[in-house]
Amino acid sequence: MFKKILIANRGEIACRVMRTARRMGIATVAVYSEADENALHVRSADEAVLVGPAPSRDSYLRIDRIVEACQRTRAEAVHPGYGFLSENHVFAEKLEQAGIVFIGPTPQAIAAMGDKIQAKKLAQAAGVSSVPGHLDVIPDAAAAVRIAREIGYPVMLKASAGGGGKGMRIARNDGEARDGFRATSAEARSSFGDDRVFLEKYIEEPRHIEIQVLGDAHGHVIYVGERECSIQRRHQKVFEEAPSPFLEEETRAAMGSQAVMLAKAVGYRSAGTVEFIVDQHRRFYFLEMNTRLQVEHPVTEMVTGLDLVEWMIRIAAGESLTLRQNDIRLDGAAIEARVYAEDPRRDFLPSSGRLVRYIEPRGDGVRVDAGVDEGAEIGLDYDPMMAKVTAHGATRAEARARLRAALDGFYIRGPRHNIAFLSAVLTTKRFAAGTLSTNFIAEEFPRGFAAVKPPRKLFDRIIAVAGLAQFIIAERDGGAAADWVVCSDADQHAVTVTRDDHVFRVAGQTIDTDWQPGEPLLHAKFGRNEAIFQVDRNGHSLTLTHGGVTLTVKVLRPRVAQLFARMPEKSPPDLSRMLLSPMPGLLVSIAVAEGQQVHIGDELAVVEAMKMMNVLRAERDGQVKVLRAQPGASLGVDQIILEFV
Ligand code: ADP
Repeated sequence: MFKKILIANRGEIACRVMRTARRMGIATVAVYSEADENALHVRSADEAVLVGPAPSRDSYLRIDRIVEACQRTRAEAVHPGYGFLSENHVFAEKLEQAGIVFIGPTPQAIAAMGDKIQAKKLAQAAGVSSVPGHLDVIPDAAAAVRIAREIGYPVMLKASAGGGGKGMRIARNDGEARDGFRATSAEARSSFGDDRVFLEKYIEEPRHIEIQVLGDAHGHVIYVGERECSIQRRHQKVFEEAPSPFLEEETRAAMGSQAVMLAKAVGYRSAGTVEFIVDQHRRFYFLEMNTRLQVEHPVTEMVTGLDLVEWMIRIAAGESLTLRQNDIRLDGAAIEARVYAEDPRRDFLPSSGRLVRYIEPRGDGVRVDAGVDEGAEIGLDYDPMMAKVTAHGATRAEARARLRAALDGFYIRGPRHNIAFLSAVLTTKRFAAGTLSTNFIAEEFPRGFAAVKPPRKLFDRIIAVAGLAQFIIAERDGGAAADWVVCSDADQHAVTVTRDDHVFRVAGQTIDTDWQPGEPLLHAKFGRNEAIFQVDRNGHSLTLTHGGVTLTVKVLRPRVAQLFARMPEKSPPDLSRMLLSPMPGLLVSIAVAEGQQVHIGDELAVVEAMKMMNVLRAERDGQVKVLRAQPGASLGVDQIILEFV
């Protein structure tokens, strides 16, 4: 076995690989960029080597520097994590040439699967069910239209070198095929430096289900169940779960054996993933193979009890995979949610800043894979994923309930994050029923997340807990009283609070808690149901967060509330009447005109920043008064784009 390995990655995956290495008694080397000097993955390693400045191409993507770091620290092998160099066959080759083991598949297998056209041809030849399509490079827009007609609309245009959800377009008619071809090849050229485009049938209402495979260097390959990753935003996964609520044993076995066939056809060793899309009739089609560890591997680990990283390391060290197909048992269900530094109320714009408070959730069956801790600086140089939360349960319903509780207990202050959005997704009836498709988010949140109205029952609970929290604060401050009024922006609720030790009666609810003022998390029992509320105090205001809902209230004595209701509002500059640029960038377009009525969720403008198009949407209904900037303008942070009436 290796004595020392280097992890050519950062963030949560670098930390996760190190955990297993440490358990196996293997020393670890981190690499880092100047931006990551104090990052968690650097502090988690036994040694760390600086490989360059913040931009990835100057640091985490520098093959020469990483090989050098191995030589300098005498690391015998490299785990690449996911992203960065993990699917770069040149990297694997260079390591091999330097006598360093790549903890992953052979360079040949990576290269064969790295190109979508080639991979699909290989899959077809190996007898793997593939999406009907045209597996040759399409020369021009006219050919795109001709081939699309042959296959039948709708079709999907794809960049052969594409990845990460980029370089893909649906076309439903000749016009869209023509324009889509041009747009996809232009995007492919600028993003991947390779403008080859192909075309395949678009599968309607598809589910994304992938098979985990494990193979050793001696030709033994097994499949380790599936993961369903149908909940996606812009073709990027947000939730993943195992097993899929859609598969029965027969389809699972059929997909599994095809995945194994494909892996064998390319001489696959290490952990890998064969991705399929599955239609509503459970017909499945090969999409691509990821020749690396996936972000969502924890759900597989939780239902199988395996450590996939451990197997990757053992296999790389030449050990045989001692597991047989029959040894793989799926126990219960696991669901993972990805926690991003992004603002779901502003079209998921990436957010940055220091993590001023960061408390991870705990609980039965809960696993957190994090790449940050309190005090970390979230920058815009890298992927905005901060952590993954995975919950396991005996049933899918239990896993879902545990994940909801875990999200309620995940307390993050500083950059904006998507936890409320994750809670809202989990709360939908459709998620509970497991009727997923890759259109889930578009269909369940048609006007974006800002337009979502939380259910009344949640509100009532939060109002009751606000009353309770204020009661406890007043008691400590020597102002105990039973009657309170919870005042929110919209309305006032009178609540009476009584206590018997740590059991409270509030607004008709019985709540058991031992919360103390100052604690960020309030654990409450409503009968047998436990719930966590996040509590923030700001002057006389209390902000409570629970179940994806954040509510700011003032809890006042009835007389004060009466006066308060009559008090004229002091009006600070009303920024809500303006659309501000959330980050420096280029104003690409404005979708509205002066005088136009807009509805919550409508597109207002597009700002390009960090090579991403960010759509700014209306956060409430209103009318546009005046445009303050023109397309083509370069915007500063908080610069006014337009004003509302
Ligand atoms: P990438 O390499 O960018 O991740 P994939 O080929 O894996 O691209 O596709 C990503 C997602 O795009 C899939 O999970 C699915 O949601 C959607 N998708 C891809 N191909 C099709 C198709 N032919 N029909 C319907 N949806 C598709």
